[in-house]
Amino acid sequence: MENVHDLDDLQESSVISTSFQQEADKQENFLRPKMLCDFQGQQRLKDNLAVFVQAARERKEPLDHTFLIGPPGLGKTTLASIIANEMGSEIRMTSAPALDKPKDLAGILTNVTEGSVFFIDEIHRLKPALEEMLYIAMEDFEIDWVIGQGPAARTMRIPLPKFTLVGATTKAGSVSSPLSSRFGITCHIEFYNEKELAQIIERSAHIMNVLIDDKAIIQLAKCSRGTPRIANRLLRRLRDFASVIGDGTVTTEIVKHGLDKLGIDQSGLETQDRNILRTIIEFYDGGPVGAETLSISVGEAIESLEDFYEPYLIQRGYLKRTPRGRMTTKKAYDLLGIPCKRNMDENQGILF
Ligand code: ADP
Repeated sequence: MENVHDLDDLQESSVISTSFQQEADKQENFLRPKMLCDFQGQQRLKDNLAVFVQAARERKEPLDHTFLIGPPGLGKTTLASIIANEMGSEIRMTSAPALDKPKDLAGILTNVTEGSVFFIDEIHRLKPALEEMLYIAMEDFEIDWVIGQGPAARTMRIPLPKFTLVGATTKAGSVSSPLSSRFGITCHIEFYNEKELAQIIERSAHIMNVLIDDKAIIQLAKCSRGTPRIANRLLRRLRDFASVIGDGTVTTEIVKHGLDKLGIDQSGLETQDRNILRTIIEFYDGGPVGAETLSISVGEAIESLEDFYEPYLIQRGYLKRTPRGRMTTKKAYDLLGIPCKRNMDENQGILF
């Protein structure tokens, strides 16, 4: 057992924050919806969550442990804080890479309050020893703690207040089944459609006091990669262009000009997206190529390649993930204006 420490060690560590202070981007927090009714899109998920929250409140019990799955920027952190707000409870936030030793996790667990929400981001990166501690904490609301060493060592079972664990991941496949099976509620967050993104942009523009034309909202929604974080980020940048080269209003001309300057095309593809597709086509004959090789070739961390770039390229039909590696589709050749001399099938990638 690794968790050999004095009980005094179980102090709340610096890896936790009790509210939003932990977030680096204050602007993002400013735009974060606080309640379910402000959270745009994801209707089925919201409807179900509203039922589970209401039922838990009526029973005066904490909400069941909740697992949030989806690509970055789709609202996992936002939903965790909404759950706490809707339950009328406090939230503690951390991320798995910040939890190094069992005492880091034990320190937080022994300090959560009854009914509170404990949010662990990137839960797929939790170390095995911590994951094991979490199993008992989630199931029995207890942790095992070893005091002393050698023959004198003894295990203490420490009771914990009943809390709700909200775990978020971009990689559901990397979460072990003993952990994922301990969540009573699983929410898959999908990419947002243009209408939903338009509503998010409209709401954010209102909060930020940005004047934006209706047509510009639609244009911006189209190139936000189905992702609210990107929609909000682009809105902030276009506000800059509008105030420097325009009259302060984000118009369709400002959107066109701004996106051009930022290297983003009308469907939201960035320079690096095109670079990834071009690299697969020119260096690897359209694929298949492994993720690690590709990440080195394009100079992008494998995490951002897999979590940020690939999901959107796959969703737009430019890329396929196959057991043998990544492959471009005919649509990617067409996008880059590269003639394809090989036998291609639009849906299948290159045929061998
Ligand atoms: P994740 O944790 O999945 O990476 P976040 O919860 O941090 O994503 O969301 C990123 C930003 O996008 C937040 O600032 C929030 O304002 C915005 N956002 C996310 N989902 C929604 C939504 N459904 N409605 C409105 N804004 C949203």
